[in-house]
Amino acid sequence: LLQQADAALYAAKRAGRGRFEYYSDLLDTRAREAELRRAVADDELVVYFQPAVELATGELRAVEALVRWNHPSRGLLGPDAFIELAEETGVVVPLGTWVLRTACREAAGWREAAGRPAATPDAADVRLSVNLSPKQVAQADLVRTVESILAETGFPPDRLTLEITESVILHPDPLTIGRLEALRDLGIELAVDDFGTGYSALSYLRNLPVTVLKIDRSFVTGIADDTEARAVCEAVVHLGEAFKMTVVAEGIETADQAAALIEMGCTIGQGFYFHRPLPPSEAGVLVRREYETRGQRHRT
Ligand code: C2E
Ligand code: MG
Ligand code: MG
Ligand code: MG
Repeated sequence: LLQQADAALYAAKRAGRGRFEYYSDLLDTRAREAELRRAVADDELVVYFQPAVELATGELRAVEALVRWNHPSRGLLGPDAFIELAEETGVVVPLGTWVLRTACREAAGWREAAGRPAATPDAADVRLSVNLSPKQVAQADLVRTVESILAETGFPPDRLTLEITESVILHPDPLTIGRLEALRDLGIELAVDDFGTGYSALSYLRNLPVTVLKIDRSFVTGIADDTEARAVCEAVVHLGEAFKMTVVAEGIETADQAAALIEMGCTIGQGFYFHRPLPPSEAGVLVRREYETRGQRHRT
């Protein structure tokens, strides 16, 4: 009996302790959430831009906005340090809106500096890519938010790509599809990010207004010596050809990886081999230089 009582007491203590830890975790999460919310409101976030290039020539095709947190005590933090918390707590919605507005404003400024009015149709223009979280795609007012940011910043909709994750297209409900179609109707291009890592809802792809597939870095990394990774890259390139979609390879770190992708027929890529994510000023220099050389090319 004593032994039983002892065991019960022990269990109760453990449960109590567990409860305490649970509350302390919860408090911790609440505190971190509040800190992140404040960071968004106080403009502590920064948008970096990673170029995407034509693999064969290195010519600039697009820049992808990637959020950073300029934390007052911890320094510059990458999304791995806070995007999961943002997603869990819903902070990712105001955060994502902030990133979209800031990136569009910045990129509109580069166009303006290069004398490119918003209405100039130009197939060779540099695109802007922005990541959308599943929580953002689930917002009823997503389309209105995007539309008003485009209006406010003057960034042309047909130069914008929004990247969604594979999880969004796994079980696309009619409301989600409706929102994606409305974005497409605004002239915005939709890409599936980290393609191949998730659930590969291949049959769905055809019915969605998505026209870009971004091969996840994990497959590009293994392209030289992992036959399965290589097969996935090849499969995505073929899928792109069959569905008339653009295929972009992510995370290219070596010349060999770039060469293997070119050989497969992949035309566009991103990765440290070409460019790291750049702070806004450096990205601006690159984009404006690209506009200048193109202007010269057009004149000659
Ligand atoms: P992502 O959208 O797939 O972005 C590519 C990530 O791979 C970036 O990491 C980039 O710095 C990294 N990368 C690019 N090339 C290379 C390479 O050659 N080697 C290696 N090792 N890494 C490379 P980052 O900036 O840390 O972002 C991580 C993820 O965080 C992004 O993956 C995206 O899913 C998410 N994220 C970033 N910004 C935002 C945002 O504004 N909103 C949302 N919802 N998610 C974001
Ligand atoms: Mg992305
Ligand atoms: Mg990606
Ligand atoms: Mg990725």
